[in-house]
Amino acid sequence: MEKIAERIKEIIDKSGNIVVLSGLNVMRETGLNGVRAEHLAYETEEKYGYANEEIISSAFYARRSEIFYDYIKNVTINKETAEPTIVHKAIRQLQQKGKVPRIITYTVYGLYENAGCENVLDIHGSIQKNKCPACGKIFDMKYIKDSVGEPLCDACKVPIRPGFLLLGERVDNGKMSEACDDIEAADVLFVIGFGIRESLCQHLHKYYKGNKLILVNTEEKLGDERADYRIYGKISEIVPYITGYDPDAVFEEPDEELEVAAAMEKETETAKNS
Ligand SMILES: [Zn+2]
Repeated sequence: MEKIAERIKEIIDKSGNIVVLSGLNVMRETGLNGVRAEHLAYETEEKYGYANEEIISSAFYARRSEIFYDYIKNVTINKETAEPTIVHKAIRQLQQKGKVPRIITYTVYGLYENAGCENVLDIHGSIQKNKCPACGKIFDMKYIKDSVGEPLCDACKVPIRPGFLLLGERVDNGKMSEACDDIEAADVLFVIGFGIRESLCQHLHKYYKGNKLILVNTEEKLGDERADYRIYGKISEIVPYITGYDPDAVFEEPDEELEVAAAMEKETETAKNS
């Protein structure tokens, strides 16, 4: 790989406080369509008579929940399971090494959690965490997919509320400010599968104060110059390489020494900034 890959690899290897910001192109490699499924705009319009953006809006859900759920079950949940890729596994391994205190993801399938990751902030919610408005019980993606018609709570028989953000709804304020704080405290901001100016990334990257903004994406986008280090191509080839992913590595209990070191580093940073 290029020289830049070596440099990025070195930065990741040396850092103990990497915040991951993960975008749609990471999900694309799983074959899942996403909530908006913009690549299926024509098919959606043909089948439902509405545009994707219309169907996934909160107003549409309130009025036409049967069409909304038909779309979710067939277009958004186009696979039985949400299988993490080697990218999610590589990030999991960085976490096992005590390097990644936070993963902020824009996609809703719980892919990082399915890879065993912790401290995942699903900024647009999760299709694995649909909630009964009456009793609060949580239902996963499989439950939604398998239900006939509009999914109902198995206890209360009331319609389940989608766990992911609908168009026209605001991002949870608490999650947003957590994301901003974590990015502000990060040593390395590792953006994967996003252009810098795309959607949330455009807002969030501004909180990063360091000079190690690493960007990995499929292709170059306008505004990417903001990143200090950039590399384009197949995400599932680049990320395992620059993170030094070893599929055979075995990790036992979390290494407390590393965790303490990372916590101390964070504290020192906070002290320096205040
Ligand atoms: Zn219930």
